[in-house]
Amino acid sequence: GNDLLAGKRGLIMGLANDKSIAWGIAKTCAEAGAELAFSYQGDALKKRVDPLAAQLGSDIVLPCDVGDEASIDALFDALKERWGGLDFIVHAIGFSDKTELRGRYVDTSRANFALSMDISVYSFTAVVQRAEKLMTDGGSCLTLTYYGAEKVMPHYNVMGVAKAALEASVQYLAEDLGKDGIRVNAISAGPIKTLAASGIGDFRYIMKWNEYNSPLRRNVTTEDVGKAALFLLSDLGSGTTGENLHVDAGYHVVGMKAVDAPDM
Ligand code: NAD
Repeated sequence: GNDLLAGKRGLIMGLANDKSIAWGIAKTCAEAGAELAFSYQGDALKKRVDPLAAQLGSDIVLPCDVGDEASIDALFDALKERWGGLDFIVHAIGFSDKTELRGRYVDTSRANFALSMDISVYSFTAVVQRAEKLMTDGGSCLTLTYYGAEKVMPHYNVMGVAKAALEASVQYLAEDLGKDGIRVNAISAGPIKTLAASGIGDFRYIMKWNEYNSPLRRNVTTEDVGKAALFLLSDLGSGTTGENLHVDAGYHVVGMKAVDAPDM
């Protein structure tokens, strides 16, 4: 390990299992000396998150449904009680009805549009709003986004529109909080096989396509994302805010994508 986050306290939101992007980030943060707290959604996940948190030396595992203001308040009240302050947060949360993560964007329902925007976009602002009050010595806030915000990706649909709004909100939050030494950034991760990703139509095909067409000719891992997160969450990222850092094996720079996967 290293001591890039020694003495720092961070909240990790969105850990579901050891395939989660939140897990890759939590591991690099713990290795760098951070003290961690975790929030999870729903009782069913507590059984999974408790042992993972323990593995990283944390016994702070708290419920939070980001669709519920009272639930977010309760989380931050508990953190304030326990820690007094906070140095960083990781928001690795998104949601959309998976029946709309296939087929055409134009068929998106009003109800799922609102839900996707609420859970995948507004929740980051809601969380940063509370975190700001605890980040009295400055801090770093991080969320996760995807290239489907910038360009049309098959089946990503309403999540692409939501991620575009999330990326815009990162910029507005960075401006609001910069004068208090709080940085706000996003990581745009390449496709990774997680629980959330399994809801997206043809996800295996998208993974293959990325593997064959990205400059590094491979898919990224949650460890790759964890290392970039360490940069943004630690003092290494002291001059970086409002940024959308692509951790996608370079996929986003390629204009002409010509190589189809051989086995499809
Ligand atoms: P994951 O399924 O492991 O994590 C998603 C998390 O969101 C889960 O822990 C789930 O409990 C949580 N969540 C959903 N609704 C919630 C709510 N109302 N309140 C609290 N938590 C809620 O999947 P992941 O791929 O690790 O997703 C993490 C983030 O990374 C998401 O924002 C996702 O869009 C983003 N991302 C994923 C990929 C990918 O290919 N996997 C690529 C780029 C960005």
